Amino acid sequence: MKKVLIEARDIHFAYDEKEILKGINLAVYEGEKIAVMGSNGAGKSTFFLNLNGVLYPDRGEILMEGKRIGKKELKELRKRVGFVFQDADSQIIASNVRAEISFGPMNMGLKRDEVIKRVESAVEYMDLKGFEDRAPHYLSGGEKKRVSIADILAMKTEILIFDEPMAALDPVNSENVEKILSRLHSDGKTIITATHDADFAYRFADRVIVFCDGNIIADGGPWEIFKKSEILKKANLKKPAVMTIWEALEKSGAVKGNCPKTPEEAAMAIIARNK
Ligand code: ADP
Ligand code: MG
Repeated sequence: MKKVLIEARDIHFAYDEKEILKGINLAVYEGEKIAVMGSNGAGKSTFFLNLNGVLYPDRGEILMEGKRIGKKELKELRKRVGFVFQDADSQIIASNVRAEISFGPMNMGLKRDEVIKRVESAVEYMDLKGFEDRAPHYLSGGEKKRVSIADILAMKTEILIFDEPMAALDPVNSENVEKILSRLHSDGKTIITATHDADFAYRFADRVIVFCDGNIIADGGPWEIFKKSEILKKANLKKPAVMTIWEALEKSGAVKGNCPKTPEEAAMAIIARNK
């Protein structure tokens, strides 16, 4: 049995008077790949900020490996949970890429040698060699995204939260980010990512969580979640294209069993059946 890394228990959070999170319960297990979905304004980003200790819940609690995180432990929480902002421009602060990536590890109070080592390894991981002296704000959208991910990798947190990491990226850069997320997962990280892309969530995640108006209204395997039309309707979600085709074929008796993750895999399964 996998262990629970981080847990949210009945989290309530309000900006000013308006309650945004209305009792969120979620246990994240080590090594999971979770896609968080739901309409704009449903509370996903606010929840993430509560999970990594930037915001503190009004009610309820966050537990890290069973230990309750009080206001004094927020720094500890930030050392274990990294958060990549949706908008790289609101995350990036330094005037060159090296200083930018150094910022997190320096803030953690690490020794200079260790900071240098971490920056080098994050630069390499994110394919940013040669960019070290460049000004982040003059980089392309895809490059900025890579810098904002390198920022967080340099802190070596075991949990990585990505807030709509493909938003505003072109298809090639989106694919690149997806590969990075998969690679981080194979390297042992626990991944939580918000996304509006049902095709991506379906092929990438092993668990899908659906937010609606400050509550979690569904939590389960991608196939199980995307099969439920009432959930899709309530949260304004689209069904993955591969599932739409698969279900039509299933109805006509042309295929059987769980829908494959991608159109390519589905095509192979259909060809194999008709041989
Ligand atoms: P999502 O990420 O699902 O789109 P958010 O968590 O960003 O949702 O937003 C949830 C609600 O909280 C929205 O109605 C938004 O306007 C509000 N909100 C977000 N950030 C702030 C803030 N800093 N101050 C006041 N209201 C906010
Ligand atoms: Mg958001």
